[in-house]
Amino acid sequence: MSNIKDYKIATLGSHSALQILKGAKDEGFETIAICQKGRREPYEMFPVADQIIEVETFEDFFKIEEDLKKQNAILVPHGSLVEFVGPENIEKISMMHYGTRGIIKWESDRVKEREWLKKAGLKLPKIFKTPEDIDRPVIIKFHGAGGGKGYFLAKSPEEFYERYAKQGGDKKYVIQEYIVGVPIYSHFFYSKLTGQIEIMSFDKRYESNADSIGRIAAQDQMDVDIQTSYTIAGNIPIVIRESLLSKIIEMGKNVVKISQEIEPGGLFGPFCLEAVLDNQLEFYVFEISARIVAGTNPYTNGSPYTWLKYDVPMSTGRRIAREIREAIETGRLEEILN
Ligand code: AMP
Repeated sequence: MSNIKDYKIATLGSHSALQILKGAKDEGFETIAICQKGRREPYEMFPVADQIIEVETFEDFFKIEEDLKKQNAILVPHGSLVEFVGPENIEKISMMHYGTRGIIKWESDRVKEREWLKKAGLKLPKIFKTPEDIDRPVIIKFHGAGGGKGYFLAKSPEEFYERYAKQGGDKKYVIQEYIVGVPIYSHFFYSKLTGQIEIMSFDKRYESNADSIGRIAAQDQMDVDIQTSYTIAGNIPIVIRESLLSKIIEMGKNVVKISQEIEPGGLFGPFCLEAVLDNQLEFYVFEISARIVAGTNPYTNGSPYTWLKYDVPMSTGRRIAREIREAIETGRLEEILN
């Protein structure tokens, strides 16, 4: 039997690293935080990293990769890693990497992403090819917008052009039907070892200024000409109406099933379906994250759902480490690295 003491868990110091590293330690691993210069303090304040390695640019990441390999470190990816290294460079990572790297190209390309979700039978918000087609409320999203900055709403072509001009009028965008409802982000874990899907938790985002506009009267909002924006500030836990769980489990299963058809190795480990639930209780999924999301951060100590299944506080970070530990101990590590 292989020993987990022969391995370490490494991740980039940002996003959900505190939870990933804490979870790895709880499962008995030594841990490494790779920190961008000037961002090491949280990983010193909270004792989750046995080692901190500093890098300045994403090229430096590839320079320290040799050292990480020598230490037999397994890299756990998250959203900031994809952003830092670049989706196009993820496939160049040659150290042990948890999860299917090939799936990243499906989640980071809006066209491919829609193809995947549609095949999985999910309902998606309609996409408008040109502003002239706008015939209902829409949300305009910019490509690569850091946390929803600058997104705006419109309900006609005229309104679109007027508001687009205010944004500089030169950014690439996508026009999506605006779904009136509540945002719900469902966090899953698909275990390659057991072949089972698990619901980990739910959250909604706390967005500036979308989440505070309602605190002032409509008249005041108009007087000061506020534009809605969706800059992420944090995450708020949700416990979902229990009768919705079957539908959510089915959506998760279908997404995994189709991923196996479209990409060798398929999707496994943590992932998230980002949706708006309307008042007919229909989920409109507008995005998938094929990795751990920061929305799992409120659950460092486990969620109401993981408490039903596990006898220890099980965060998503810890669930990843447990999967890696069990894979090592049963000689199946190769199956979960890619
Ligand atoms: P995103 O950057 O795509 O995650 O979207 C940022 C926020 O915009 C989400 O948290 C939702 O509150 C909202 N949002 C995104 N897409 C839609 C949509 N199609 N309809 C309604 N709200 C949306």
